[in-house]
Amino acid sequence: MPRPLRLAGIAASGGYTAGPLFHADRAVAGYVAKGSAQAEAEALRKAVAVAARAIDELIAASPGEAAAILEFQLAMLEDDALVGPALEAIQAGATAYEAWGAELDGEIAGYETADDEYFKARAADLRDIRQHVLSTLSGQVETVAPPGAILCADDIAPTLFLRTDWSKGGGIALARGSPASHVAMLARARGVPMVVGFGEKLAGAAGFALLDAEHGKIVLAPAEADLRDFRAASNAFDAAKARASDFLARSAVTADGTTIRVHVNIAEPAEVDAIDIDHCDGVGLMRTEFLFDATLPDEETQFRAYRKVLEWAKGKPVAIRTVDAGGDKPVAGYTVDEGNPFLGLRGIRLSLSRPEIFRVQIRALLRAAAHGNLKVMLPMVAIADEYRKASELFTEEADLLSRAGVDHGTPPLGIMIEVPAAAIAPDEFSEAAFFSIGSNDLTQYVMAAARDNGAVAALNAIGNPAVQRLIAGVVAYGDIGGIPVSLCGDAGGDPAAIPALLAAGLRDLSVAPAQLAAAKAAIAAVSLESVS
Ligand code: PEP
Ligand code: MG
Repeated sequence: MPRPLRLAGIAASGGYTAGPLFHADRAVAGYVAKGSAQAEAEALRKAVAVAARAIDELIAASPGEAAAILEFQLAMLEDDALVGPALEAIQAGATAYEAWGAELDGEIAGYETADDEYFKARAADLRDIRQHVLSTLSGQVETVAPPGAILCADDIAPTLFLRTDWSKGGGIALARGSPASHVAMLARARGVPMVVGFGEKLAGAAGFALLDAEHGKIVLAPAEADLRDFRAASNAFDAAKARASDFLARSAVTADGTTIRVHVNIAEPAEVDAIDIDHCDGVGLMRTEFLFDATLPDEETQFRAYRKVLEWAKGKPVAIRTVDAGGDKPVAGYTVDEGNPFLGLRGIRLSLSRPEIFRVQIRALLRAAAHGNLKVMLPMVAIADEYRKASELFTEEADLLSRAGVDHGTPPLGIMIEVPAAAIAPDEFSEAAFFSIGSNDLTQYVMAAARDNGAVAALNAIGNPAVQRLIAGVVAYGDIGGIPVSLCGDAGGDPAAIPALLAAGLRDLSVAPAQLAAAKAAIAAVSLESVS
């Protein structure tokens, strides 16, 4: 019997799952050589075409902007820059399997070592198409994990997540990865357990494993005692979830009767199709980075995306955030290559430095405002001048739309409080219509502990007194200055963080859709008298 091996990582999306490990990166064995260069070349062309068709079908079936991620893979498969050199290698004697594997390995290494963050982030997409074509060549239909398996890899692309059937459970265990990645956001929104940062040892693991994504752990070759502990913890988690589900359709009310508004965070418009508007108070944060993922979206594309969410919300408030590109969210052709991107040209700084791009988003937002209860918020604001400049651009574009006779609204303009400067001196922003605390960034900047670095994950703690004191200070200023304050960072959906957030005075939270019920249940357990 192999001895149990316990690895620790960083929880990226909560829950428990037990199942066989499935390595997405592992080369697929069993390729049968075709006997001639011509037959090998034909096999490669066919496999590439099959993979391209599968991605094409996935694009058609994927919700809105998720499709944009897949366009990159399709473009790479259709580009001769990959297939051409592989065909040359076949002429030089390689099999289709060897030629494609080697060509893609070289390409992936190039992307991984690129200075540009955008290219680095595309390496996972390339790994995905490498495997897709190799498994097609070997006669295997797909590289996706079977239902219920624990998907293991160095890192994975959002595409692989979207292709996987999560309806029967399963989870994700990554050697690297980050809780702040797009995949982690998708996993949280769908409630798929995910742990990142397990390190090299994960690569050699095989067989049955227990994934504890509540505490960021995995047990390989578990012993009887591990299974017992896991079952107890997992059953307690399921029971808490079942109890929480009773809360989903109810308003969020504390044990002593105070109503708390609970909104949802969404990353792309199609997400609202799976959410009942009656279960939440509106949208507290709609991120717009997904729209900007593959290319810069035009005004019409943005307008349609914003209008869809506003119409779904049936008059409830929808806070759409202007694009927060930069930092860990590079956008090709827009963000700049910087040594320290979290402290660089990101969010409102980047938008103001590229007004021609910002104005397109502003026009789309103003037009969408005619279709619902829109609020617009600006990310990464550090000084009042940024707010004023953005506000002027909104006024100018609204005037231009009025003069052109284009239907539009004038939504209230608020700011995210996520830069310590704004949290320390919120009175600098008395002109803002509202504040929304971005606890993810606020925590990383206050603690000087990057949100995507597993080595400092313990420091990146919302419960730290310095972070809590800043949040309470912003809420107190909001009360005095008559500025509504909400919180839209991930802490809002974390049952362990909720009592302290309510004690700090917050009465308005925004959470990932999968966390709605658990957040309401956690609120119901809080007695404000005892925590305040
Ligand atoms: C935050 O920083 O808390 C936030 C909500 O924004 P994002 O996670 O998109 O940076
Ligand atoms: Mg942020």
